[in-house]
Amino acid sequence: AYDLLFKVRLQSFYIFELLLDRTMASHIVGYPRMGPKRELKFALESFWDGKTSADDLLKVASDVRSNIWKQMADAGIKYIPSNTFSYYDQVLDTTAMLGAVPPRYNWKGGEIGFDTYFSMARGNASVPAMEMTKWFDTNYHYIVPELGPDVAFSYASHKAVSEFKEAKALGVDTVPVMVGPVSYLLLSKPAKGVEKTFNLLSLLDKILPVYKQVITELKEAGASWIQFDEATLVKDLESHQLEAFTKAYSELNSACSGLNILVATYFADITSDAFKTLTSLPAVTGYTFDLVRGKKTLDLIKSSFPSGKYLFAGVVDGRNIWANDLAESLGILESLQGVVGKDKLVVSTSCSLLHTAVDLVNETKLDNEIKSWLAFAAQKIVEVNALAKALAGKKDEAYFSANAAAHASKKSSPRVTNEAVQKAADGLKDSAHRRATNVSARLDAQQKKLNLPLLPTTTIGSFPQTIDIRRVRREYKAKKITEEDYIKAMKEEISKVVKLQEELDIDVLVHGEPERNDMVEYFGEQLSGFAFTANGWVQSYGSRCVKPPIIYGDVSRPKAMTVFWSSMAQEMTKRPMKGMLTGPVTILNWSFVRNDQPRFKTCYQIALAIKNEVEDLEKAGIKVIQIDEAALREGLPLRKAEHAFYLDWAVRSFRITNVGVQDSTQIHTHMCYSNFNDIIHSIIDMDADVITIENSRSDEKLLSVFREGIKYGAGIGPGVYDIHSPRIPSMEEIAERINKTLAVLNRNILWVNPDCGLKTRKYDEVNPALSNMVTAAKKIRTEL
Ligand code: GLN
Ligand code: ZN
Repeated sequence: AYDLLFKVRLQSFYIFELLLDRTMASHIVGYPRMGPKRELKFALESFWDGKTSADDLLKVASDVRSNIWKQMADAGIKYIPSNTFSYYDQVLDTTAMLGAVPPRYNWKGGEIGFDTYFSMARGNASVPAMEMTKWFDTNYHYIVPELGPDVAFSYASHKAVSEFKEAKALGVDTVPVMVGPVSYLLLSKPAKGVEKTFNLLSLLDKILPVYKQVITELKEAGASWIQFDEATLVKDLESHQLEAFTKAYSELNSACSGLNILVATYFADITSDAFKTLTSLPAVTGYTFDLVRGKKTLDLIKSSFPSGKYLFAGVVDGRNIWANDLAESLGILESLQGVVGKDKLVVSTSCSLLHTAVDLVNETKLDNEIKSWLAFAAQKIVEVNALAKALAGKKDEAYFSANAAAHASKKSSPRVTNEAVQKAADGLKDSAHRRATNVSARLDAQQKKLNLPLLPTTTIGSFPQTIDIRRVRREYKAKKITEEDYIKAMKEEISKVVKLQEELDIDVLVHGEPERNDMVEYFGEQLSGFAFTANGWVQSYGSRCVKPPIIYGDVSRPKAMTVFWSSMAQEMTKRPMKGMLTGPVTILNWSFVRNDQPRFKTCYQIALAIKNEVEDLEKAGIKVIQIDEAALREGLPLRKAEHAFYLDWAVRSFRITNVGVQDSTQIHTHMCYSNFNDIIHSIIDMDADVITIENSRSDEKLLSVFREGIKYGAGIGPGVYDIHSPRIPSMEEIAERINKTLAVLNRNILWVNPDCGLKTRKYDEVNPALSNMVTAAKKIRTEL
């Protein structure tokens, strides 16, 4: 009898569990695909090098996928994504799915294989790659589809279906994810020849039949939900663009019958117009919203969420590495439960976890206190599920209180808060931080000291980082060689670089940056408030990953960072030696930034640290200081309404760094390639004395920058050759480029320099290229 009773109780317990499970809904928008130790990266690169076979690559990839699915299933995630894996990029996967291969790749039809796929991604011996551009405001880059009126779409990659089946065979029911049809078109560019005239959205009718085929196949394979990523919905869209969404999803409606369709948006607040369009779409049964970056979206949901639909509430941040504030999230979720109904609320991530690091487990060097403040993708899955469980009445009290304790420890930690820094940064608000004299007067004062020829020549900073340099740095870091030996090796290197530049007859020299592995990490390692991971890699494009530093506390500079090297280099030459710094905005934009204070506040703190460095360099006799803001444009918010605010504090941060120097100290800044057109006034507003800009890929666009430059009077150095290619530019080619620029720009303000730093190049490329550059500048000087 006891046995029976026990059985009955057990059974009812199970039934109870089951009931709970139904209300316990969790979802992940997408997941990193590189693997916890970048397994996919290494598999891809060795395949590309011909060292391993396609089968080897397939095997690594399927292991990466199955591990992810199992991990999510074990954690208890209900809506597990599939097809968020990619061999290169999810937009390129969609291009393959649609058979939209540009003609130059000579694709003959049929299922697209690695050959065609990787040719589009990376180019091949005879054809260059397709263009790559930033994915919204992230540091991920996608392959831009090239579409014209003649593209013959066909269903040419069954990846979405095969990955769904693959998961199913492993016992995991997944939600296949695809880039939605309208976003796909809006993220494309018109093919060559029709750039100015072609309306991309006119292709909607042609791509929808392929989408229908995929949907039908997925349904046949047993899918019950399909997710379409339509993040362009958070951008500032015009009404005809919004109408395209209505048109597309009406058209897909019949193919979707019997299926649940989830449309995912992320990265920003959604406008009320877009919200209205989205929530009225036929065929769609659920929506994901980014509730981390989308604070106003929460109000839209509360005031007008359609009844009967599912809300996938993105409360766990996919763009950062911080542990979620579970108590706060639970509060938000509980308030939403009242709005959309208990059975229609699903806990989710703010966006794909692609933009965060993979697994904290692999961080052996971070101390436990800092680790308790963090959550990478693997930990975020657990957070999402814990929130879903709590909503369903099964709160894991121990987990929640550990989380609360971690947040409390962070708030009160002296490692995080530095009163003096807080005060100094707060005190910055009220001033414009502008140098007192205008740029033309400053350039005159500088010229008296520097005595430069017309068209002065310079480089952007780094010289080739040879295997030897990297080895010495590594050995020093691992304490295998002494500081003395390290300094000696670096000094030799610097002196080589200085001699080379003197031989080449370059006017303003650099020390070559041999002591730096990375322009942000180098400074982060010397500033307080930064932490570094061992494996916190985030995909940037293809097999390339970056490992952003973590800014966890108030930033300060315990001691000078570059003065030692710069003054050592200056002592080696009579020519001016540029001090070389990374600017605050770039340090900020290339790091994981704390989320317990506004970004601008962190940026001001970094600016103050760099300001101290600038002033120390000046004191040490450095007459020219370059403050790189390679990533200023990158931080521009998605929504236009937020641009002005960002640009104001970003530009102000830059000015803070050098407002204190004398007129005769020349401040340079450098920017990598980006679309400058819409931020030209902000660039001028940075009030640098000389701006060097990457140019070789964007001549036309930069012309407007030049023109504004004439009015402004600052020195401008549009790169005269592309350093991303091993190709050596001829003297004539560089001369022609300089002459073209001279047609637009006043000769008194033009500088001659390469596009960017030379660290990835080899000396047998750099020597002749720079020699041709200097010869070209000299030749043109005689003609002026
Ligand atoms: N000073 C840096 C270098 O030359 C600039 C790099 C960059 O702009 N990305 O390496
Ligand atoms: Zn650059």
